[in-house]
Amino acid sequence: MQTKLILPARDPLPDAYRLRLDDTCYVRRQPERQYEGRFFPHRYFVLSDVCRPPSISPRVLTVSPVTNMTKPQTGCLHDYQLTTEDMKTLESADAFVINGAGMEGFLDKVIKKQKNLKVVDASKDIDLLSENGEQNPHVWLSVTAAIQQVKNITEQLKAADPQHADAYQANSDQYVNKLENLKKEMHAALDNVPNKDIVTFHEAFPYFAKEFGLNIISVIEREPGTEPTPTELEATIQQVNVLPVKVLFTEPQYSPSAAETIARETGAKIYTLDPVVTGQADDSAFNAYIDTMHKNMETLKKALQ
Ligand SMILES: [Zn+2]
Repeated sequence: MQTKLILPARDPLPDAYRLRLDDTCYVRRQPERQYEGRFFPHRYFVLSDVCRPPSISPRVLTVSPVTNMTKPQTGCLHDYQLTTEDMKTLESADAFVINGAGMEGFLDKVIKKQKNLKVVDASKDIDLLSENGEQNPHVWLSVTAAIQQVKNITEQLKAADPQHADAYQANSDQYVNKLENLKKEMHAALDNVPNKDIVTFHEAFPYFAKEFGLNIISVIEREPGTEPTPTELEATIQQVNVLPVKVLFTEPQYSPSAAETIARETGAKIYTLDPVVTGQADDSAFNAYIDTMHKNMETLKKALQ
């Protein structure tokens, strides 16, 4: 899929920049100083702002082809499979921005093949939550951690491309400011909801729950895309049955059928929470994270009354 991303045009090149939104982000420097950014769909909010061509330069270009490699039906990022085509794209990259925290299982293979590829780890030094000895990679769902991710990406891009350090920093400061406002607004809306117990669809929300003081009492599908076993289903039904306010949260990326079964058995209401993992790569995506988190906030406010 290709769409166009329009950036502010002032002068025609010579500084030609191209941004490509994709499932990961890379910055490519060619002799004519051409840039490409590839983004995680749930990440391009971060990267489109941080990696975008230096807007303080008087010679900023224009039109960028945007490719969304991870199709909306891919589900959460751990369903994504590295393809030969993606490998080729990575071969031309100087830097590769990853979510980290174990999300990119394919990464070892990439690094082994490309010794000169700079890997920008967005989750560097972030305290990770684990369950059953496994780290949970859905770090970005905490706004606090998302801010840290923006700062991590900024620092590492500055190091990889010192010539544009000021621009990365300026873009980053601007975006962090927006995220700080989002965080304040979400805390104001959610800190005092009367009910704090939620059942989510897959293991995407522990960071979110921790930030906003919610308790995830059960998860509908332990492996997203894999129907729960009858035993798991029965366990969830029992957990939901004792809740004072029975609410289930499905995710737009997955089938709600298991949640519907639980709802039938318990009388629970179904709402949708979006783990901000997918979306179209068009210019509306610049605010995709903030817009989606807003929607999640409104949903929770309503569901947890
Ligand atoms: Zn996930």
